[in-house]
Amino acid sequence: MLTTRPRGTADILPGQVENWHYIENVAARVCREYGYREIRTPIFEHTELFVRGVGENTDIVEKEMYTFQDRGERSITLRPEGTASVVRAYLENKLYAGPQPVKAYYIGPMFRYDRPQAGRYRQFHQFGIEVFGAQQPAVDAEVMALAMDFYGRLGLNDLELHINSLGCPECRNVVREKLQQFFQPVLGELCANCQNRYARNPLRILDCKSNRCTELAREAPTTTDCLCLECRAHFDQVQQYMQDLGIPYVLDKRLVRGLDYYTHTAFEIMAPDIGAQSSVGGGGRYNGLIEACGGPPTPGIGFALGLERILLALESRGKLPDIQAGPVVFLVAVGDRAVRESFSLLARLRAAGIAADMDYQGRSLKAQMKYAGKLGVRYTVIIGEDELQKGSVVLRDMTAGSQRDIPADQIISALK
Ligand code: AMP
Repeated sequence: MLTTRPRGTADILPGQVENWHYIENVAARVCREYGYREIRTPIFEHTELFVRGVGENTDIVEKEMYTFQDRGERSITLRPEGTASVVRAYLENKLYAGPQPVKAYYIGPMFRYDRPQAGRYRQFHQFGIEVFGAQQPAVDAEVMALAMDFYGRLGLNDLELHINSLGCPECRNVVREKLQQFFQPVLGELCANCQNRYARNPLRILDCKSNRCTELAREAPTTTDCLCLECRAHFDQVQQYMQDLGIPYVLDKRLVRGLDYYTHTAFEIMAPDIGAQSSVGGGGRYNGLIEACGGPPTPGIGFALGLERILLALESRGKLPDIQAGPVVFLVAVGDRAVRESFSLLARLRAAGIAADMDYQGRSLKAQMKYAGKLGVRYTVIIGEDELQKGSVVLRDMTAGSQRDIPADQIISALK
């Protein structure tokens, strides 16, 4: 146990962490360009927040939360998603009293007690955005455009954007009733899970992955068929904006999302080639959520994208950049005096902004050169007795395999 990490978690090692920085930097840049500012909320919250904010009848709340009692006997939950916390922060810090809309983004770990497999973990990372206080269809389009722009900048241009509208609570009541009528005669044939969903949340039957339920649901009424005039107009305009932006999408009437609080636009982004867990992100509008969490009636919309799956997609397409994150220069010193000289040169190189390192093991010249090669440095600077006598150093270009003598006091400018 001492040397084994918990199931469904990962170590992100040096050499891999550079890929994470790369993705996080692209996310931060896109957000900045779209006017979204970063927010950081706690990793854990009061359990009630998620019960209310994610919804009691969701898989997350029913079976996936990491919940525990703290020493003060409060029920605490490791956040399974980001939206509820951002809503809480918006209310607690009275951000609704400032300029609207509030446009925020976050990047960080989420925790769900899920069955681990490729692309599905118990600790995973999401990049998400939220817009509070704007209900125009253009905002729905902006949110989806931002997601697709982000993927595009990473070189993921072949992902599929699926969109649907779930309508307002009134449309939901209509479709709920129609679905119950539709499934009533075959209720006994649905899986146990869906028999449960039938009464509480029949929409989720459309989302069931079991073969029999999928087959039974083939001709079922969909939310899109039940939209009221206002919701239909909203959805038409969202699609018009997407067409104006030239962003391709698939109208997917079967798309319902796991969370209870979605209204109007719902979307999901798929990378069909990364395995069974093909959803690389999803989101939608949740106009009732902020009020449900005790705030003033406020429209909201957002998305969450899974960073591990984005990495899988980048890897499978060979789109990860080759990032050189180690030192650029390695000082090879032979002899006590040379080691001392090198140590102070090392400090000067670093002060000049050049990533540099040296040997601390007292290795031979050959062993130091071999180590420098393994580090993948661009240059080595070799200092021995001879060089000390001459007041020079040997600068070796590791890629070209060439080297030259240069005066010791010119090494920094030469490297720059
Ligand atoms: P959700 O919050 O469930 O809508 O998920 C949004 C995105 O987060 C998904 O499209 C996935 O890319 C990612 N995601 C959700 N759950 C997991 C998980 N257990 N492991 C890895 N990624 C996940």
